Amino acid sequence: MKLYEFEGKQIFSQAGIPTPRGTAVRTAQAAIEAAREIGYSVVVKSQVLRGGRGKAGGIKFAADEQELVQAVADLQSMELSGERVEIILIEEKLDIAREFYMGITLDPRESLPLLMVSAQGGMDIEQVARDYPHQLFKMHLDPLAQPRMNQMLDLLLKTGLQGKQLVQAAKILHNLVRSYFAYNAITAEINPLVIDASGNVLAADSKVEIDDSALFRIKAVQGFERKTEISDPLEAEAKSLGISYVGMGKGNIGLIAGGAGLGMASMDMISAHGGVPANFLDLGGDATMEKTADALRVVLKTPGVEGVFINLFGGINNCEQMAKGIAQVIDELQPTQAIVVKMRGHSQDEGWAILESKNIPIIKFGTTEEAVILLLEQMNKKRVTDHGHFS
Ligand code: GDP
Ligand code: MN
Repeated sequence: MKLYEFEGKQIFSQAGIPTPRGTAVRTAQAAIEAAREIGYSVVVKSQVLRGGRGKAGGIKFAADEQELVQAVADLQSMELSGERVEIILIEEKLDIAREFYMGITLDPRESLPLLMVSAQGGMDIEQVARDYPHQLFKMHLDPLAQPRMNQMLDLLLKTGLQGKQLVQAAKILHNLVRSYFAYNAITAEINPLVIDASGNVLAADSKVEIDDSALFRIKAVQGFERKTEISDPLEAEAKSLGISYVGMGKGNIGLIAGGAGLGMASMDMISAHGGVPANFLDLGGDATMEKTADALRVVLKTPGVEGVFINLFGGINNCEQMAKGIAQVIDELQPTQAIVVKMRGHSQDEGWAILESKNIPIIKFGTTEEAVILLLEQMNKKRVTDHGHFS
């Protein structure tokens, strides 16, 4: 999860990294109150998750209330790389003497976090790497060792920092490294790290991304709200049920697969035989009876679905449990769509028996291709029956 600047700064602040005084607001009225509290001049910063905000005009300054109201109105009417501005950070305007860069990101080549610092702050790190490569100082971090203050000092000395400011910057860097690991960050960046006119060192910007897999255990981000940007109501419903379902927006064959690879192979096979997949759904490794039933309900609701292909393997999952889930939905909804199940693995005999008792065609030992062909035949039969030619 990418954090907004003001959220990243909250985390910095908790980690002992000095940040400018500021408040995140959503309305002009709240902005006025925040600025009164802080005192003019203020910086008015759009909060968006995409980069390059300053260059795109997403940062304004206001010396009085009139300018503030104008700045807020300007930002609110803006879209930055397609992202509407809803949150605005009002901050004390710093009197900036110098700008530095410090950041940590993952180095995929070494499979280690990479710490980088530079006296060329304020510009994109990619640009520093390109235009001032000799002014970018790097060090890999050992995730199993505590960072040491002398390492931070050694690295920052190369940027030309000295005396009190060198020590302040090293403390900030030390805290940045510690919070990088504590928050399971993928990226943690301060750009610019600022020395103000009174000689204080502080983080004027934040860019933090946290590993999604770790979010559940990071208390500090629990309150950070995100609008879900899911426009497909079935996708939203599936997500709330813990199911990874993607609607294709068209198609006549619904799909439930045990594993993403099997799902993609199933979609290819459906297409190869003239069907059109209506969705992708990977049941995952925790397919209980309830989850299987939830998945089938969502797929059956997908507009245009005339047939459902359920292609499962009982490795971690139990075929009996999954079959019970399918049988439950058959009893409950008595779907008119054709359904074919290919399923084998752990507890397959019990699973098959349950499906047979509901007259669901099963491919026990055959291939995905055979299952798709059978489903298409079933769909054809149903179509003919529905039109009254056969009974
Ligand atoms: P970004 O463009 O999204 O990276 O936004 P930043 O927060 O890094 O701001 C971009 C630039 O705006 C900084 O490098 C500064 O030069 C300038 N800036 C931001 N905040 C202040 C401030 O408080 N005072 C002054 N004078 N300049 C600022
Ligand atoms: Mn920045």
